[in-house]
Amino acid sequence: MTLLGAAEIRELAALLDLKPSKSLGQNFVIDANVCRKIVRVADVKSDDVALEIGPGLGSLTLALLEEASSVVAIEIDQRLATQLPITAANHSDRAEKLTVINSDALVIRTLDVAPTVLVANLPYNVSVPVFLHLLEFFPTLRTGVVMVQAEVADRLAAKPNSKEYGIPSVKAAWWADVSGAGSVSRSIFWPAPNVDSKLVGFTRHAPLGDEVLRKKVFSIIDLAFAQRRKMLRSTLSSLYGSSAAAEAHLASVGIDGTLRGEALTIEDFCKIAK
Ligand code: SAM
Repeated sequence: MTLLGAAEIRELAALLDLKPSKSLGQNFVIDANVCRKIVRVADVKSDDVALEIGPGLGSLTLALLEEASSVVAIEIDQRLATQLPITAANHSDRAEKLTVINSDALVIRTLDVAPTVLVANLPYNVSVPVFLHLLEFFPTLRTGVVMVQAEVADRLAAKPNSKEYGIPSVKAAWWADVSGAGSVSRSIFWPAPNVDSKLVGFTRHAPLGDEVLRKKVFSIIDLAFAQRRKMLRSTLSSLYGSSAAAEAHLASVGIDGTLRGEALTIEDFCKIAK
């Protein structure tokens, strides 16, 4: 198995006449050591079915093939999706373990196999929706590591009462325990993006409730953070008919209506919704 470095990435891009697309977040990793490190941080085991979103030219895919039992890679760009099995066959004796699906990850709701670990350098413009979508539709994903823009990583891993805490943090917390897993310099990408990246790790926890409760919780979260600076009794007043009724309901579950959404944990949102 040989992984891809800067020279191979440039060669593949030339072969495909590829001009990296900004709107698809195409920044390719050119450092094989970083790919191995990501797979190590994700603690991919030999019986894992790895799910990768946006495999691009295959830098991370080849590192995953070294460790996982199989890899499913979903790539929106048809040229990249077509080339990837060829690249895998040229670089790995485990290429038959790879399945490439040419699709927008956001429309995939089922797979023929049950993925157990998510490892991805996510396309930056859709990283939060893709992350939440996968947690929602693939309950067999028990753990994983994703690389995202540093600022997005901070938001996903944020805890209550911090300025980064918001809708992505609290919705992700419905599904999993999420935490930062290290920084990545912009210099390991081609082309180099304008911002640094970070790794975010997650471990799925026991479900906090069923789909009916989740939908209620998510709509309350959306309301609570729609006007971040306002108190809960005001942001949730439309749910209860008035600010006084909202305050009384919140008090009945032990929550102070003068707090803001940013002070509440996912468990607090569950209490309100229940
Ligand atoms: N994994 C590769 C690497 O680390 O070098 C490429 C990562 S690049 C940041 C993001 C990749 O996601 C690109 O290959 C892009 O074409 C793909 N992509 C963008 N939007 C996507 C979507 N909605 N669904 C699936 N793939 C997508």
